[in-house]
Amino acid sequence: MPENNSSSIDIFGMLSDDSEEKKKSQREELLSTTGVKEFFKEGDIRIDKRTCWGLECKLCIDACPTNALFWQSGEVKIIKDLCVYCGACVLCCMVDDCIKIKRKRENGKIEKFSKPKDVIKLEERINTKKRVERVTGLFPSVDRYCEKYQKQKK
Ligand code: SF4
Ligand code: SF4
Repeated sequence: MPENNSSSIDIFGMLSDDSEEKKKSQREELLSTTGVKEFFKEGDIRIDKRTCWGLECKLCIDACPTNALFWQSGEVKIIKDLCVYCGACVLCCMVDDCIKIKRKRENGKIEKFSKPKDVIKLEERINTKKRVERVTGLFPSVDRYCEKYQKQKK
């Protein structure tokens, strides 16, 4: 059995965990006012400045629901703490692979995308899954479905 004395307690680790948690909850609070439906706590976003159309475009800046993107010194910049990895910027970017997003779902699943068609496919897959879950929640079996609707017909 491990010895339970003060030397075995990682106080610095506890402090850093706590501040990380605090940072996360402050971020959630700040972003809750934006009305973003899907909130990803973990992820990463990168913008390739070499392929970005910058001044001639700026579509991603207009599309971002949290104002994480902004224009400064002739390029698109990002405040990573404000990004919720929603994918709106990728969806409207005219250059494939210019914005790259990686995000982690609550269940640990990692999603990566960098093209509008990737975002559309991903959303379609998610919506289909949600629809199936909703239907199977209401009607766990075909019998249950028939039972309900045959009763209504009578
Ligand atoms: S993924 Fe793009 S649009 Fe969405 S919050 Fe992040 S920077 Fe803004
Ligand atoms: S939408 Fe894409 S090409 Fe246009 S400014 Fe944003 S990153 Fe650059």
